[in-house]
Amino acid sequence: MPEITLIIWLSIFLQVTAVTLSLRLIPLTGRATAWILFSLAFVLMASRRLLDLLFGNHFIEDPYIHNLSTRLVALIISTLMVAGVFLTKRIFEQQRKDAEQLNKFSLAVEQSPSATVIFTPSGKIEYTNKKFCEINHTPAEKLYGLTPGFLTTECTPQSTINKIWNKIKIGGTWKSEFYNKDSNGQHRWARTIISPIKNNKEEITFYIASFEDITIEKQQQQAIKELSLHDHITQLPNRNLFQDRLQQAITTAQNKDQMLSVLLLDINNFKAINNTMGHLTGDVMLREISNRLSNIAQDSSEHFLARMGGDVFLLFTTDTTEDKTLKFANLLSQTILKPFFIENRSFELTANIGYAFYPTHGKNDDTLIKNADIAMYAAKNSTKNIIQYYPSLDDGNLKRLELSSHFRQAVEDDEFVLYYQPQMEFSSNKIIGAEALIRWIHPGFGLIPPDEFIELAEKSGHIYMITEWVIQNSFIQLAEWHENGHDIELSINISANDIQNPELVSLLETEMIKNKIEPAWIKLEITENSLMLYSSQTASALTRITELGIAISIDDFGTGYASLQYLTRMPVTQIKIDKSFVLQMLSNDQDAVIVRSTIDLAHNLGLKITAEGIEDEETLNILEILSCDYAQGYYLAKPMNNTAFINWLKHYNSQLPLF
Ligand code: C2E
Ligand code: CA
Ligand code: CA
Repeated sequence: MPEITLIIWLSIFLQVTAVTLSLRLIPLTGRATAWILFSLAFVLMASRRLLDLLFGNHFIEDPYIHNLSTRLVALIISTLMVAGVFLTKRIFEQQRKDAEQLNKFSLAVEQSPSATVIFTPSGKIEYTNKKFCEINHTPAEKLYGLTPGFLTTECTPQSTINKIWNKIKIGGTWKSEFYNKDSNGQHRWARTIISPIKNNKEEITFYIASFEDITIEKQQQQAIKELSLHDHITQLPNRNLFQDRLQQAITTAQNKDQMLSVLLLDINNFKAINNTMGHLTGDVMLREISNRLSNIAQDSSEHFLARMGGDVFLLFTTDTTEDKTLKFANLLSQTILKPFFIENRSFELTANIGYAFYPTHGKNDDTLIKNADIAMYAAKNSTKNIIQYYPSLDDGNLKRLELSSHFRQAVEDDEFVLYYQPQMEFSSNKIIGAEALIRWIHPGFGLIPPDEFIELAEKSGHIYMITEWVIQNSFIQLAEWHENGHDIELSINISANDIQNPELVSLLETEMIKNKIEPAWIKLEITENSLMLYSSQTASALTRITELGIAISIDDFGTGYASLQYLTRMPVTQIKIDKSFVLQMLSNDQDAVIVRSTIDLAHNLGLKITAEGIEDEETLNILEILSCDYAQGYYLAKPMNNTAFINWLKHYNSQLPLF
C-alpha cells in the first residue's frame, strides 16, 4: 500500500527533523556523550520505522523476527533516552551553576567598591561598574567606546602609558598608583591593577582594570610625612626637609649656573638658659629665635630656614653672591643680638655663623652642611669673628677642627700613646722620675704632638676624657716599673679644667688602689696659669689631692702671673721652671737671672725645683751649681715610648758609679 509507505517515510522525515532540532538544544562543547546518545536513539527510532517498512514490503517475512527486532530496538532506544536525559539533566544543572556563578561575579564586579572598567585591546571601554561611573560622574552608556582616563591623562607621562601597554599586551599584569583628575577636575590617587582577559585560545580579548581610590590614604601619609619633616617646638622644617630642599636647590643652581650658600647658625650659651630657666623657657626662647630668623629669611623663594636640632639653625640662600651672603649672615647675627624679653626678664644672646658656597665648597648637601659647620666651629673658636666663611680657614684650622670632632673616638679606639721623659736628681745623679707626655697616633694625620691637640681638647670639653685615659694607662705602667724594681716617680700633666672636675680625686684614688700604687710615686704637674684660674675651687681640689699623699708641681713656672702670696697659699710641693728660660739661659742674661732667682725663691719657700729644657752639658752644669734639684731635657733624653724608656733607664743605671 503506497499510502502507508508514504506515511512511514513522512514519519521518518519528521522524526529526523525533530532529532536535529532537539539535538541543537544540547550544546555540543564538552557534551558530546549526551549528543551521541540522543543521536543514536533517534537513529534507532527511525530504523524501527524502517523495520516496519521492510516487514510491510515483505523483506522480512517472519513476524517473530520482526516483532523481536522492533522490541529490541525499542529497548535500546529507551535505554539510550534514559541515559541521554540523565546526562542532559546534569548538563543543564552545570549550566545553571555556571550562570549563577557568572551572575555572582558580575554582581560582585558591579557592586565592588573598586572602580572597574573592561576595555578592548584597542583601548575602548566595553564595561564599567557602578563605582567607576560614580567616580567619573558619568552613566555607563556614555562611557562605552571611550578610552579610560588613565591611558590618556596628562598626569601620567606618555612613557608610563607606553610601559603599561607593553606589559599588558604580552599578557602581564600592571600594578601601580595613578595620580589623576576626576571629571570634577579634582586630583585623586588610585591604586590600580590592569590585567588581560584571554579566551580559550589564549588570545587577549579584553583588559580589566580596577581602581581603588586612595586619595585620603595619600593625604594622611602626606600629613604624617609633613609632621616628620617639621620640628615640633618651632614648627620650622627639620634637617631632613632642609636636606631635601637643599638637594632640589642644588639641582636648580646647577641648571641655572648659580651660586648657593649654606649657613649654619649656632646660638651661644643656650644650654645655660635651659639649665637655669628650665626647658619650657628654653622652648619659648627657641620659638622667638625662630620667629626672628624667619622674619629675615622671609622670601621663601630665596631662603630656606630649618632647625637642625638643639640651638642650631640651618639656612640656605639661592642665586646668591659672597657679598649678599655676608650681608644676610650679618642680619641674622644682628637679630640675635637684640635682647630677648621672656618672663619679665631680659636675655642677651650671641650666635656664631659659618657658611659655605655651592659649587666652590661642596657639590652636595652633606658636604655643604659639613663645611658650614666647620666654618661655624672656627667662628666659635675665634676671638675676632662671629661669622666665618669656609675657605677663610687655613689648613691648620681645618686640621684642628677635624681633630676636635674625633677625641671621643680616639679615646675609644686607643689612638693615644704615652712617652716618658726621665728626670734626674742632681744630688745623686739618679733617675728619680719620668714625665708622661701624650701623643696621638691619628689614623689620617700620623703622630700628633700634644701642643697641637691639648688646647683643642680643653676648649672643646674633651680634656677630661683624655686625662682619664692618661691616668689609667700611666698608672698601669708605673705599677709595672715598680714591680720590676725601677723606683721612679711619675709626673702627669693636669689641665685647669681637670682640677675643677669633681671626679678627678676619686679617679686618682680608684686607679691607685686598682694598681697598688703608693701616692708618693705620683706627682701632678699643673701650669702656673691654671692655678690662677679658679682660685678657691682649685685650692680645695688641690688640698684633697695632697691629702691623698700626691705631690703637686707648678709647671711652666715664670710664664704666668702667680704672685708669691699665691704660691704660699697653694698646697704645692715643687716648682718646674719653664723651659723657655732654661733654653736661653746661656745666651740671655735676663733668662739666667730669672732661672737663678726662681731657684732661690723655691728654696726659700721650702719647695723643690726642676729645670726642664736642658739641651746641653753646660746648662746642666750651671744648674747644678745654682743648686737646682732636678733636671729634665733633651740632653739627658728625649721623651720615649715605654720600651725605649726602660732600655734607656737600664743603660743609664749601668753607667752610674755604685757609690
Ligand atoms: P710640658 O708639660 O711643659 O712638657 C714639656 C715639653 O717640653 C714636652 O713637650 C717635652 O718633650 C719638651 N721638652 C723636654 N725637654 C726639652 C728640651 O730639652 N728642649 C725642648 N725644646 N723641649 C723639651 P711635649 O711632649 O711636646 O709636650 C708639650 C706640652 O703638651 C706639655 O708641655 C704639656 O703642657 C702638654 N702635655 C703633654 N702631655 C700631656 C698630657 O698628658 N696631659 C696634658 N694635659 N697636657 C699634656
Ligand atoms: Ca709638664
Ligand atoms: Ca713645662
